[in-house]
Amino acid sequence: MTELLTEPPLAVPPITSALPEGEWHEETLLVRGGTMRSAFGETSEALFLNSGFVYPRAEDAEAAFKGENDRFIYSRYANPTVAMLEERLRLLEGAEACRTTASGMAAVFASIMAQVKAGDRVVASRALFGSIHYIVGELLPGYGIETEFVDGTDLASWEAALSRPAAVVFLETPSNPTLEIIDVPAVSALAHAAGAQVIVDNVFATPILQKPLELGADIVVYSATKHIDGQGRCLGGGILGRSEYIDGPLQMFLRHTGPALSPFNAWTLLKGLETLPLRLDRHLSNTRAIARYLEDHPLVKRVLFPELLSHPQQELARQQMRAGGSVVSFEINNGQGDAKAAAFQVLNRLKIVDISNNLGDSKSLVTHPATTTHQRLPVEERAQLGITDALIRLSVGLENVEDLKADLDQALSGA
Ligand SMILES: *Cc1c(COP(=O)(O)O)cnc(C)c1O
Repeated sequence: MTELLTEPPLAVPPITSALPEGEWHEETLLVRGGTMRSAFGETSEALFLNSGFVYPRAEDAEAAFKGENDRFIYSRYANPTVAMLEERLRLLEGAEACRTTASGMAAVFASIMAQVKAGDRVVASRALFGSIHYIVGELLPGYGIETEFVDGTDLASWEAALSRPAAVVFLETPSNPTLEIIDVPAVSALAHAAGAQVIVDNVFATPILQKPLELGADIVVYSATKHIDGQGRCLGGGILGRSEYIDGPLQMFLRHTGPALSPFNAWTLLKGLETLPLRLDRHLSNTRAIARYLEDHPLVKRVLFPELLSHPQQELARQQMRAGGSVVSFEINNGQGDAKAAAFQVLNRLKIVDISNNLGDSKSLVTHPATTTHQRLPVEERAQLGITDALIRLSVGLENVEDLKADLDQALSGA
């Protein structure tokens, strides 16, 4: 190691690009895509834990700020480790461009704010992640942006809302926590006719199981905190779409408002992407087994998982998604009793599965949406979304599936 460090230091970070050409499969892209090696020839992607960069001459700084040379200026703008993550995500999504952010919510907020102004309209599906509901329902109207929620599964509602011009359509499919599926091609066609850009929150599906851009959407957003890290270590977000938008208004918004992803978290997420397909395989086989187990359980009233024949949009899910994902929600059958007490009893009896509001993690995690993630919603709205007191959301992890079934068995037996 010391031998390498005796080399004279270079004024500019010595990065050579090894961008992938052509036809790599996803597994290869996720291990190697976007890698830039420094002059030290490191195997794993280097962690550039620095805020700034130096210039050999004042003329180089001037040229950099004029955008005449392609170099790193400041980590709020771009950083080599973050750039490697963005390129890897871009290749995976098949998008023209990608930017990352410090969290999924920063990605969602920036994706909308970079393209709306007072007087614009935003139309969104009602079944949204809680914080997104706040942004669309409470924050945007305060800035003079008109917003409207629709039942995402009902094309007639979309059609009515999009009979007037709109700037942005925002939707999440499958939705949290009831795993509703929204018809992305049909909604995109209606949105485009109304002049709107379609943003899809693709967290539940992951970039491997659903490709919203191929389905007609314009922009995809991620909480990389979920499956992309998938090991409960860090927050992160991503925004992907056409370069006209990403390298234009979005880049301007991100650079000057500063929700930049830390290089350390970018590095962690790069490592997460390397194992994403492997982890998803196990997530999927476990989730399928748990969904079937729950469907057969006498104390379970209803199971929500997009692959089940009992799912009302199973056919649409099959058209849009490669597989159903790693979350299964279910309602317990509490007879005449107190549904919340019965659900709490199941959560409290679990010994392996942890109570947590996160998802897409290697650890199986369980949530009671009505009292946590969706607690802020008015009761009628929760009812409209099917979030009853008996509903439990389970993010299925990577543990041995027999152990998980045994854990659920003993927890449900007390209900
Ligand atoms: C978690 C999540 C977010 C927000 O992401 P953070 O990284 O927690 O900020 C947005 N959308 C969905 C669907 C999520 O599950």
